[in-house]
Amino acid sequence: MRAALLEEIHGELTIHDVRLTDIGPNEVLVNTVACGLCHSDLHFIEGTLPQRLPTLLGHEAAGIVEAVGEDVTEFKPGDHVVGCLNAHCYRCSQCIGGRTHLCENRLALQKRANGTSRVRFGDEEVFQLAGLGGFGEMMLAHESGLTKVPKELPLELGALLGCAVITGVGAVFNSARLQAGSTVAVVGIGGVGLNIVQGASLAGAERIIAVDLNPDKLELAKTFGATDCVNAGETDAVEAVTELTKGGADVSFEAIGLAATAKQAFQMIRPGGMTYLVGVSPAGTDYGFAGNEMVLKGRGVQGVYMGSNYFKRDVPMLANLYLQGRLKLDELVSAKISLDQINEGFAAMQAGTVARSVVIF
Ligand SMILES: [Zn+2]
Ligand SMILES: [Zn+2]
Repeated sequence: MRAALLEEIHGELTIHDVRLTDIGPNEVLVNTVACGLCHSDLHFIEGTLPQRLPTLLGHEAAGIVEAVGEDVTEFKPGDHVVGCLNAHCYRCSQCIGGRTHLCENRLALQKRANGTSRVRFGDEEVFQLAGLGGFGEMMLAHESGLTKVPKELPLELGALLGCAVITGVGAVFNSARLQAGSTVAVVGIGGVGLNIVQGASLAGAERIIAVDLNPDKLELAKTFGATDCVNAGETDAVEAVTELTKGGADVSFEAIGLAATAKQAFQMIRPGGMTYLVGVSPAGTDYGFAGNEMVLKGRGVQGVYMGSNYFKRDVPMLANLYLQGRLKLDELVSAKISLDQINEGFAAMQAGTVARSVVIF
């Protein structure tokens, strides 16, 4: 099958013919229909998140089941599925505690039972990001890393549920358990930030303040439910949010992964408020929060991994919200591209001009 491989840091992805191993027990073979380009992929390309090479990236993927391995009862050929970054075992203490997104065995489940990769380039093992590798024409994944979605859901939109949407809406629903009537600030309006905005809107926030440097992204945020926009390039974002909320937001979310914006997000919450860090930062980033700014003002900071998702519950729920007309997905897609255009897609992301580019196979 054709797949876009990362062979060197800072390099472009290169299209090669790669091979998947035979379908093992508990594995599912999927024809990839669509895969979104995510900032986390860019971290691997730029080397800010180190990874073994060659790597097959792509983790915001959806497709149609082609075949299933031994002991797979949940899926059959023809099922429409969305891929999950965090395959899970249902047996470790995190899974038993309901935190399948933090499964202690998720890295092992991203490989074959014998610990080798499911993807080969010649004789070489290719690291399969998230156990999915959505930038290939087919994906071979552990059954726990997939969930069925209704066939009425277009898969090019379904793909986005697997990362941008679950990360954003999940941060609001699962991590913050946002109370209706809350005031919310969202710093960073990319694919994830837009979904935090629409999650806060669905959860009944009173005020949703979008903060970004890009006026086009702020305009887009309004259509996703933002009640106010702050252009941090033109005004002091902390002062603006503090004034709009008369003393600070109840809850803020940072969706970029930078120390400067994380600090801003923290400074714009009221005493007793909470900041949720959603953006993935370059390895080694130190956010440097002052302890007494938390202790004496009763404020908190919580990291959020993948929207604290419970994947097989949350993704079908989000699909249904879309089919009922209550969740925006079409508007998240700013470009549909072919696999051959994947480097142009990442260049557009680096330029900061688009919400989401999606590779259509
Ligand atoms: Zn992602
Ligand atoms: Zn587990």
